Amino acid sequence: MAALTRIGLAGLAVMGQNLALNIAEKGFPISVYNRTTSKVDETVERARVEGNLPLYGFHDPASFIQSIQKPRVVIMLVKAGAPVDQTIQTLSAHMEKGDCIIDGGNEWYENTERREKAMNELGLLYLGMGVSGGEEGARNGPSLMPGGSYEAYQRIEDILLKVAAQVPDSGPCVTYIGTGGSGNFVKMVHNGIEYGDMQLIAEAYDVLRSVGKLSNEELHAVFSDWNKGELLSFLIEITADIFTIKDDKGEGYLVDKVLDKTGMKGTGKWTVQQAAELSVAAPTIEASLDSRFLSGLKDERVEASKVFGPGILSGGPEVDKAQLIDDVRQALYASKICSYAQGMNILKAKSTEKGWGLNLGELARIWKGGCIIRAIFLDRIKQAYDRNANLANLLVDPEFAKEILDRQAAWRRVVSLAINYGVSTPGMSASLAYFDSYRRDRLPANLVQAQRDYFGAHTYERTDMGGAFHTEWFKIA
Ligand code: NAP
Repeated sequence: MAALTRIGLAGLAVMGQNLALNIAEKGFPISVYNRTTSKVDETVERARVEGNLPLYGFHDPASFIQSIQKPRVVIMLVKAGAPVDQTIQTLSAHMEKGDCIIDGGNEWYENTERREKAMNELGLLYLGMGVSGGEEGARNGPSLMPGGSYEAYQRIEDILLKVAAQVPDSGPCVTYIGTGGSGNFVKMVHNGIEYGDMQLIAEAYDVLRSVGKLSNEELHAVFSDWNKGELLSFLIEITADIFTIKDDKGEGYLVDKVLDKTGMKGTGKWTVQQAAELSVAAPTIEASLDSRFLSGLKDERVEASKVFGPGILSGGPEVDKAQLIDDVRQALYASKICSYAQGMNILKAKSTEKGWGLNLGELARIWKGGCIIRAIFLDRIKQAYDRNANLANLLVDPEFAKEILDRQAAWRRVVSLAINYGVSTPGMSASLAYFDSYRRDRLPANLVQAQRDYFGAHTYERTDMGGAFHTEWFKIA
């Protein structure tokens, strides 16, 4: 290695290895390090095979840090939590005032804020940067959500602009998110929205398969067709692909052999917890999390199916296949609008609480490429916030409002049909209930408030005069 490198990257598992190769491919010489040194050698070999990329491996942290030009910038991509603290300790011992550490993992935002403070005390800068797009995104262009020190961001902006996914007419999928842990928080909500999208797609699949009796070949055709229109997205595209894959260990299609048990790593749960902390309704995202919990109860569900019957209920109305397919497409789209409205509201509420000044339209823009939720739909969200940056809720944007009204009948048909057939559609139902609650000027909350005042003297407001009132309800009764 002749000169010092421009940047370093520590943590060479799936994400780190691919992001390092991406950075090197864009012409930025990079030093790499990993606790287990075999991964360093593996990455160096990949850099050689993939075009003699300017990537240099180090087996010890001291020479790794010394190989980077000052002021140094090191991206960390290790397991979130304690491994990040341990890696910071290892790296910072060799760093100098003015150097910078960037955590690219799915970290809890408060950990980032704690570490930023501790690093500042040592004279080091710190960024928490959400990275979305999995292995493929990291290698070829992820969506990047850097938050924390703006000075640190400026130092590597040129790298991030080149490394991020590039979307024609929209630019690179990166923007400075805000101070503190905002980058991690935005990535967390992105993942919560991803949970919602995946659940809604799974419900569309279930209704089409269980009620419409569509084969995997037909499902492939339907999802491929949907991917040419308003639902065009990475998740619809890969779903269409999944229906074509034959089982290499037996007969039939692989998707039918996959156990109906969904795993998770925690960001969806954090999103729901944050929604509750902020008093923001996020029923679609919550339903997607609950569905993962219920999917995990495989043995219990098998036992319950012996009591209640396993399959779909008979006696539902006859369905017209073509009509069903079109209705489900519309229900999926309308439900998705509600899910994104909830995610954006979580971000808006947190931004207000923390003073992050999040630009919601800009977030929609950087999610248009590279990341798992990339979709043509995000353009519409960007446009909605361009029309009105202070939009109370995506549902009341004139364009989205019209789209929902146009799809309302089909949406209700799908949810009713699913209920009649005993096919659970928690995401679509939650979205519809969210819409129905949001659009009503009078909810039964008056009764709940009366009950609260009855048993707890919590007082109530009146519709016809101002002030707080309490009634001795039980004495009158
Ligand atoms: P990972 O499996 O989360 O973590 C493995 C890496 O962490 C290895 O480099 C490992 O080093 C290191 N590590 C673990 N414990 C350590 C410790 N105590 N001290 C030092 N290093 C330690 O890797 P990943 O899947 O590439 O993900 C990295 C980060 O990106 C995570 O925060 C993840 O949530 C996030 N992320 C992942 C994806 C994805 O698709 N995988 C997508 C977006 C974001 P050794 O090799 O020495 O064990």
